Amino acid sequence: MTAAEITRAKLEAIEDVPLNWAKSIDNYQPRLFNRLSRLLNELETVDGELAKTAANLTRIDQIVTGLRDFITQGEYVEIVTKFNSEFTVQQGLTAQYFSDVLKADPVVTSFNAQLYQRNRAAAIEGVLSNASLDAMLLNDVRATLVDSVGANARFGDAFDALQDLVLGNAEREGQLLRYSRQIVSDTFATTDRAYTQLISEELGYKWFRWLGGKMKTTRCLCLNLNQKFLSKGEVEAIGRGELSIMPKLASCKTTNGWAGMMKGTNEKTIFTVAGGYNCQHSILPESTFAVPKKDIQRAIANGTFEPTRTEREFFNL
Ligand SMILES: [Zn+2]
Repeated sequence: MTAAEITRAKLEAIEDVPLNWAKSIDNYQPRLFNRLSRLLNELETVDGELAKTAANLTRIDQIVTGLRDFITQGEYVEIVTKFNSEFTVQQGLTAQYFSDVLKADPVVTSFNAQLYQRNRAAAIEGVLSNASLDAMLLNDVRATLVDSVGANARFGDAFDALQDLVLGNAEREGQLLRYSRQIVSDTFATTDRAYTQLISEELGYKWFRWLGGKMKTTRCLCLNLNQKFLSKGEVEAIGRGELSIMPKLASCKTTNGWAGMMKGTNEKTIFTVAGGYNCQHSILPESTFAVPKKDIQRAIANGTFEPTRTEREFFNL
């Protein structure tokens, strides 16, 4: 891979991994609903209405357990396994970004490697643990069934309600798709940015570039920062909410920071959370010598960058 290909692959994975996840889940949901509808046949009905009996409540528990088994034993696990393997690929691309693009030796300390594995494990847990499956889907399946039985609802109505929940309708997507895509998108991007930042920090990078942005719906902050070269101090200032540090960025200021900013964003965490919720931008380290002179001059003027003698000579300052 050429340097440009490595950079592109690293950046695009942030968007493509959640996109591919969403495609797989979209394909999977009809089979999930198929299984659920077969499990529903166990419910006792009287003249098309769900019987309000203790036996039916027990059956609801069995239905939810059956659905959980279906999710954790089949195709869904393969989708999660594929997601898990994307982390390995991305970790490799990040190492290549440092070695082949920046020509630096990536400092992968055991701390960095362990943190990456930890974040990766948390990401997988976020889409696969019992608690996550409950929160994303199963609690609502159970509640819909309990309410329907309690109200002697018609079987057909309960069936339709569950179909809306699992497969979605004209207004909204199926619940597993909606929730899991968000988790995949945020955890993958965050894990990658945290890892990249740790290595940058150890190698002492002073310049970064805000990159990504195939996405059309992008927040004010990212629209204005996309492709921009930023000194470390400028990124930190943005993390503190000092948006006037960059030209034109002040217009993105809201009472709480900026639109889409993640809670807990500060001068340190900005390197990991970037623009915030659903942000698919990367803040990639750059060699100072690759930065355009006008950006160097701006950062000197706003007090966030002090060039070394070699850098002064290189830029003819
Ligand atoms: Zn963004």
